Amino acid sequence: MKWTQKSQEKYNQDLKNKIAELKKKRKAIIIAHNYQRPEIQDIADIKGDSLALSRAAAETDKDVIVICGVRFMAESASILNPDKKVILPVVEAGCPLADMINVDKINELKRRFPDAPVVCYVNSSAEVKAVSDICCTSSNAVEVVKSLSAERIITLPDKNLGLYIASQVPGKKIIPWEGFCPSHVRLSREDVLLAKKLHPRAKFLAHPECYPEVLELADGVCSTKQMFDYVASSDSQEFIIGTEKGIIHGLAKEYTDKRFYLASEHLICADMKLTTLGWVAHALEFMKYEVKVPEEIRNRAKKGLDRMLEVK
Ligand code: SF4
Repeated sequence: MKWTQKSQEKYNQDLKNKIAELKKKRKAIIIAHNYQRPEIQDIADIKGDSLALSRAAAETDKDVIVICGVRFMAESASILNPDKKVILPVVEAGCPLADMINVDKINELKRRFPDAPVVCYVNSSAEVKAVSDICCTSSNAVEVVKSLSAERIITLPDKNLGLYIASQVPGKKIIPWEGFCPSHVRLSREDVLLAKKLHPRAKFLAHPECYPEVLELADGVCSTKQMFDYVASSDSQEFIIGTEKGIIHGLAKEYTDKRFYLASEHLICADMKLTTLGWVAHALEFMKYEVKVPEEIRNRAKKGLDRMLEVK
């Protein structure tokens, strides 16, 4: 059979029907990150950034939580919902940034800076969260740091987010870890200057995982959720987007009268693109792959997430 656009659409629709049936049967909720493929965003019950995903996972009354995202997001859902089945459709979907820090490295930091609490970006493993004092997301990182009384604060694993926090909270000494998001650091200052030249009326929105010299050019430094809020309240009709490509689908769908340009075609996270409709159907059919954080780690990691959810 020749594979045409029509047969692809039929194949996708069949999978969507199957997912809808299985979702009902399993009493499941599908939660998707803003960086997921368009067709995955379209079948999600809840869509958002890491903070929204954590909140949704904490509040759901469904038996099964399917996380369309990467491993640390499924771990956060499991930490907040130990009695529910948390499913990550693609077992290999990880986050290279999260893998740049581990417990040994944090213990070394704690030895060097014993008075500094550890603020841990949610883009981190459950083990890392368990040895941190409080978690944050890119939405609430500045508020989380402001909520702490300590003068020196360790932030990890993303260095650019740490530097951004430092610029927003000048009263505190931020000690950032050296990690980086391989997708966001692909965006250069030159890319942005070119995009601005091509779209002179557009506002430029950048994610705090981008380099400081990129953030300097931004009209707004935003988490993905904050990008939606910025667009909603802006009079501008055009936006250059400095974060992962997947968000363009959601923005264009929600704000049909506005135009969005990706700041660089290199803004793609390979791990976020692993989840397909086929994998979601497989996940619901066979309940794979379950992510369960061991109780001892969960208890400690939950404290940091709970503290974060209390801040904002
Ligand atoms: Fe990790 Fe960056 Fe991909 Fe987000 S976009 S999952 S931080 S590698």
